[in-house]
Amino acid sequence: MISSFELTDAHEEHRETVRQFCEDEVEPHIEEYEESGTFPMDVVETVADAGFHGVQYGSEYDGLGLDYRSYAITIEELSRSWKLLAGTASVAGSLVGYPIHEFGEEWQREEWLTRICSGEWIPALSLTEPNAGSDAGSLETTATRDGDEYVLEGEKVWTTNGSIADFLVVGVQTDEGVSLIGVPEPAERDGLEFVRDIPCMEGETAVETEIRYDGVRVPVENVIGEPGRGLRYVLEGLDIGRIGTAAQGVGVAQGAFEESTAFADEREQFGQPIREFQGVSFKLADMAIEIEASRLLTLAAAAKRDRDERVTAEAAMAKTKATDVAMDVTTEAVQVHGSRGYSKDYSLERRMRVAKGMQIYEGTNEINRVVVANQLYE
Ligand SMILES: Cc1cc2nc3c(=O)[nH]c(=O)nc-3n(C[C@H](O)[C@H](O)[C@H](O)COP(=O)(O)OP(=O)(O)OC[C@H]3O[C@@H](n4cnc5c(N)ncnc54)[C@H](O)[C@@H]3O)c2cc1C
Repeated sequence: MISSFELTDAHEEHRETVRQFCEDEVEPHIEEYEESGTFPMDVVETVADAGFHGVQYGSEYDGLGLDYRSYAITIEELSRSWKLLAGTASVAGSLVGYPIHEFGEEWQREEWLTRICSGEWIPALSLTEPNAGSDAGSLETTATRDGDEYVLEGEKVWTTNGSIADFLVVGVQTDEGVSLIGVPEPAERDGLEFVRDIPCMEGETAVETEIRYDGVRVPVENVIGEPGRGLRYVLEGLDIGRIGTAAQGVGVAQGAFEESTAFADEREQFGQPIREFQGVSFKLADMAIEIEASRLLTLAAAAKRDRDERVTAEAAMAKTKATDVAMDVTTEAVQVHGSRGYSKDYSLERRMRVAKGMQIYEGTNEINRVVVANQLYE
């Protein structure tokens, strides 16, 4: 498999635009929110206002009408500053946005996707259950037909942004098999309970919700695409989601790398900048090599998708490589900073914590290796 891609001046300009946006609109707010442990809704709204929740969708749905390379660049740059924002944009643009855009009815695109792209709605994908994690096809949540409605029963865990979401896409078992169903305004629904936000390694700014569906009624027309084809839609959406997660990994690692090179230049021990010790400079060199490799894999997968080809293996490779690299780079970045890296005065410990999550969500890296292995003989 030989991949090729090119970046145009427009892609580089887009990167500059997003980076400048992050420096002006995002970075001044990170410390305040991370310290208070509250979800940064106003910053998320600013990100959506800039169009970054719908980069690859057309202007008719309030998207920016750009390509998947621009999507990957956007997510990388958001993540370089603050992964939380990149994760939220990635859910909107891929896990939720993609099935609606590709398989939904036109009215669903107009009513749902437009609100997601514009930032009017924060969306979430409610798929994982206590007994259905990696084995996403074994969902136990049911949607039973009752006239013009489905009645939802079951429990979900780890729904990112669940308790603050304006719109959920829920994975359910219908008579036909796994199906996806859209649930607008979940907080208003009888029988839908946000059980709790799971305390997790990412910290209190992250919202990871357990949700109980106890007789929740949803119109039949809210099914996305054909009933019974939901797993296929999720897996196709994950191809795009994994490009986004790979880009998150590249961004987190890039931010940690830049802080490390600056620190190694300033910090002196034994009468010289620590970057002059080979033990430190080789760490920085390895970071540079691995980040560049991850970025190339990510952009190659995005470029292949821009050519309208399936990218199941490429996206899984990029996701696995880039998030493993993010874990390694952030761990070494803490080491380069010594005790300072271990403190909350620097961003490194936060970057290290979020890197761990990226190795788990959108398919654990073991599952992504299974995906790659399965493609080797096709
Ligand atoms: C931060 C975060 C955000 C998330 N956001 C969402 C979200 O928005 N929506 C949502 O629906 N879910 C979300 N998830 C859930 C996530 O998708 C699942 O955690 C993931 O799919 C793994 O499922 P599990 O945790 O049940 O682990 P399990 O499936 O129980 O896996 C446990 C271990 O076994 C390994 N394993 C399992 N099967 C195999 C196999 N066939 N081969 C090799 N190893 C295997 C896994 O790799 C893992 O190491 C999120 C999770 C996290 C941590």
